[in-house]
Amino acid sequence: MERAYAPGMRDKDLYQKILGIEKPWQVRDVELDGGRGEVRVLLEHRGGRLTCPECGVPCPGYDTRPRRWRHLDTCQFRTILVARVPRVECPEHGVLQVRVPWGEPGSRFTALFEALVIDWLQEASIAAVARQLRLGWEEAAGIMSRAVERGLARREAKLPTRHGVDEVSFQKRHEYVTVVHDAQAGVVVHVADGRGRDCLDTFYESFSEEQRAAVESVTMDMWAAYIASAAEYIPGSETKVAFDKFHVAQHLSKAVDQVRREENKALLGEGDERLKGTKYLWLRHPDHFRNDRWMAFEPLRKSTLRTARAWALKTLAMELWRYRRRGWARKAWLRWYSWAIRSRLEPIKKVARMIKRHLEGILTAVVLGITNARAEGLNAKIQWIKATARGFRNRDRFRDAIYFHLGGLDLYPAGITQ
Ligand SMILES: [Zn+2]
Repeated sequence: MERAYAPGMRDKDLYQKILGIEKPWQVRDVELDGGRGEVRVLLEHRGGRLTCPECGVPCPGYDTRPRRWRHLDTCQFRTILVARVPRVECPEHGVLQVRVPWGEPGSRFTALFEALVIDWLQEASIAAVARQLRLGWEEAAGIMSRAVERGLARREAKLPTRHGVDEVSFQKRHEYVTVVHDAQAGVVVHVADGRGRDCLDTFYESFSEEQRAAVESVTMDMWAAYIASAAEYIPGSETKVAFDKFHVAQHLSKAVDQVRREENKALLGEGDERLKGTKYLWLRHPDHFRNDRWMAFEPLRKSTLRTARAWALKTLAMELWRYRRRGWARKAWLRWYSWAIRSRLEPIKKVARMIKRHLEGILTAVVLGITNARAEGLNAKIQWIKATARGFRNRDRFRDAIYFHLGGLDLYPAGITQ
């Protein structure tokens, strides 16, 4: 077995080895600053041919500049690489710093340190990673942001033949980002500010007519701006735009909740507390009830309460996704619509009218057998990102986090593989 270092090896040589420093670079000295808890590794360029970092052409040296990089800690000591880095004068690109093998241009961290931060950021919030690795919040967020830029630059942009579009609220209400995901690969392919038409237009415009014609389905909420964009850019969108169960269920859940809130208020006025504290019982899928909760819910569900009627209409609508034939599905939905519209429950009637206006798109989702797994999975992960992102100061950071966690990108600095 080869030993990593020989006994008696001096610290200079040890660092030379563990950092993988090769000619023309050399470790000149290693300093331990006990007071600051810091190890400083002083590196030196031993001369030789210099090349332009842009074009690789050999160039004359111009001057040197002092630089520092944070590296992986040595035991508990923060470890800093320090070097004077030569600059060259390229006839074509001007005066530029040469590339160093341990870090990417412009970074104040070595590639290995950035990779460590990237690994941790997959597991925990920016704030937690920054605290743990003794970084500033902005520094940790900057590493995430650069990782995303790298990943996006390496990615081959393609328009997924089956994709979904979602609006995601960001921090304050009424602020949104638009998120497009690949329904087959389950990765986010586009994030744009806002939820207007332009958010989707600019995405579609970046692809050729041929690529757009190859689209088979676009899953979305019943949202006019997205529908209009798909109508303009996706040929045959009338049979490709699909309003899936996930989004329809969200609208109906909101309506049930609204009925419950109004009814609860009225009942409490009469001293009736039947609906008090029942919010989540009505929102939950009955399959997910524990037995005792179901026992508590059962009499409520069977009651003559308005909320129970709203809940029954929602539950019925959720059954209508089992059809596979467009004609049968249409008949069933229209029957549901006539019940809903006679329910005398305003919030339900409102959703019912929206469903009727968008019925063909719902039927497309039914016959294409579009499942909710992707949309629900992505939604849950985005909720996690939002929950861990209380420190997000702006939308760009939120966008970065979505791409970072859900973009399926190659995030690591050059030369580092997972
Ligand atoms: Zn050059």
